[in-house]
Formats: sequence, structure tokens, C-alpha cells
Amino acid sequence: MVVKRMQEFGETIFATMTQLALDNHAVNLGQGFPDSDGPKRMLEIAQEQIATGHNQYAPGMGVMALREAISADNNVPVDNVLVTVGASEAIAASVLGLVEPGQEVIVIEPYYDSYAAAIALAGAQRVAVPLKAVGNTWDIDVPAIRAAVTDRTAMIIINSPHNPTGAIFSEQGMRDLASLCVERDLLVLSDEVYEHLTFGDAQHREIRLLPGMAERTIKVSSAAKTFNVTGWKTGWAIATPALLDGVVKAKQFITFVGATPFQAAVAYALREEGAWVESMVAELSECRSILVAGLESAGYRVHDTKGTYYVVADVGEDAGEFCKRLPAEKGVAAIPLTAFTDHPDPWKQKVRFAFSKRPEIIREAVRRLNS
Ligand code: PMP
Ligand code: GLN
Repeated sequence: MVVKRMQEFGETIFATMTQLALDNHAVNLGQGFPDSDGPKRMLEIAQEQIATGHNQYAPGMGVMALREAISADNNVPVDNVLVTVGASEAIAASVLGLVEPGQEVIVIEPYYDSYAAAIALAGAQRVAVPLKAVGNTWDIDVPAIRAAVTDRTAMIIINSPHNPTGAIFSEQGMRDLASLCVERDLLVLSDEVYEHLTFGDAQHREIRLLPGMAERTIKVSSAAKTFNVTGWKTGWAIATPALLDGVVKAKQFITFVGATPFQAAVAYALREEGAWVESMVAELSECRSILVAGLESAGYRVHDTKGTYYVVADVGEDAGEFCKRLPAEKGVAAIPLTAFTDHPDPWKQKVRFAFSKRPEIIREAVRRLNS
């Protein structure tokens, strides 16, 4: 049994594909999570926190040391920072606390699956606008977004670096989107969980820093991707107090607060482990090169990845069928991009592979794909 507004949702594609990977002893390049640990001292601090009695409810807005570290990292006042249970809760609470039932929320297609669920739970309407192909990657299509805005539009959810395509939205695209949001008085939920995972000269851009955007942007991020702790579910939302109020109101009744001992550990990592993040990203970049070369030699057309830990290949056939067969046939799991779309046609042959594994694991996946 499930309420009407959740009926369109089945099991998440990540759970399905991870199960298929386990059943077939496949290398799991489907669900995106790393297979090595975060900075050692950060892990020790979490353990010390548990051993020294930091095991009761954190303050509603989060442990002060973490709020301070996030505030310093983002150059905002501490009052603009709310600690959440992963970016996932920040996303759900932002939509639930700031969008009225019946209002519309624009998502950029292909979009991360939890946006659709948050919008449905809020009783709001999802309007999907596709990315546009530019060169060998994609960019935000602001004229198409403009055409999709109505009097009922409350919010646009963006995500750059972009899961699942690995695209980073252009400076011009961001500026045009910011102008549109100011002109039409729209909120932006900016999901920046991959903000530190950028390659080469690619640069992360933050829409909240553009003129008129600070008071209408909720930036969401998380320790998951930056410090290899997807299981810690420690994230945050950053917005002006006026905007954060709605997010806090919803968040306080979803989880009340996140797990206490991880917060001091993430606070330490944000302050002290910049060099660790740099070397982790350098290794990711190596894994990206190994996987791209391997996919190309297996005969697939591979798109550019400027950020995140995903690469998209065009497999020249139906991506859903391909991904169902791949674990048994080749011993590798991946995700079809159609799982992230309302209008699957342009994405029908596109498959996402995660390269967030150790280089030897990526090499093994490549060997299997080429066997
Ligand atoms: N947004 C995007 C784009 C993601 O890929 C993910 C998952 N890693 C999340 C949000 C959720 O992040 P968290 O695990 O911190 O809830
Ligand atoms: N964010 C990761 C991905 O996109 C995992 C998400 C999940 O398992 N819910 O693969």
C-alpha cells in the first residue's frame, strides 16, 4: 500500500543495480560510492567522539563546530547554515518547507531521483527541462527553462557538477539562469554535492554568488562525496535566515537532528583536510582516464566528464536492456540514464559508469568490459 503521490516511484535504480551487481559478483560501477576511506584523522575523531560521550541529540541547527566550519568554507554567517542528514534531507526539507502544494518545480533532465520524490511528497508539480548537448558534454538550456516558467513556478533545482552526466554548467548559462530567477522571482535549490570533484581546468561555479541570488538560493552540499563518507549522511543547507526558516521548519520534524559524533569529525575535515581532498581528486582523475580509455576500446562513444565521479557512454542500443544484461554478461554494473528522465528519448542509449573505485578495481572493470 502506498499513497497516490508516491505511486509513480518504484525501488530506486541504485538499489536495483547494486543488488544485480551482488547477485552476479559484478564490479559495481552503478551506484556511486567510493571503496576507500576518508582522511584517517577524521575517522579517528568520530570514534573519539563516541568514546567520550558525544552521543546525545545535537542542537537543532547542528553542532556549532561544524556550522562554523561550513560557514568559513562558504564565507557566510553561521546563521545561514543548517546541518542535515545528508544532502538528501536538505533537498527534501527545502522543497517541503518552501514550495506550496500545486506549485511547480523545474528540474533539469536528466535529474537526480530524490528531487522527483521530494516534489511529489510536497504535493507540487514537477516540470522537467532537458539539458542541451554542447560539444561532447551538456549545458543548462536557459531559453527552454524560460519557456517552462509559469505563474505557478516556485523553484528551480539545479545540480552542477551534474549527476549523472558529469557536466559543469557554463558561466554564461549560470548568469542567464540567475537573471531569469531574479526577473520571475524564483527560488533556486542548488545541489552542489560534487563541488570539490572537478578535473583539469574545470571550475565549480556557485549561482548563489551571482547578483540577486544570495537571497533566493538554497545551496546544498554534503560530506559524502568530499570525504568518502557516503554512509555518514552528514550534509548541510546554506541560505539566508529568512529562507532557511522554511527548511528548518520541515527538517526539525523529519529527523529533528543528524547523528552527533560525525559532526565534529566533518568539522575537522572541512578545516584541515584540503590536501587530502586534492590527492583524492587526483586519483579520481586517474580512474576517469582509465575508465574512459577502457570504454572507448570496448567500442563505446564516451562523453566528457568535467566533474563528479561519473562518465556517460553511448552504448549504441537500449541502455535499460544493456544495463540489465551487463552484470551477468560482463561482470560489471552500470546505470541507464533513462532512470533519471521524464522524456527518455534523447538519453535512450546513454549509460552512466561510476569511477569512484580504486584504480585496480577500475582496471578490472575495463578488462571485463573488453573481454
Ligand atoms: N544529490 C546528488 C546529485 C547526489 O548524487 C547525491 C548522492 N550521492 C545526493 C544528492 C545525496 O547526498 P547524501 O548522500 O549526502 O544525502
Ligand atoms: N548519489 C549516488 C549515485 O548517484 C548514490 C545514490 C543512492 O544510492 N541513493 O549513484
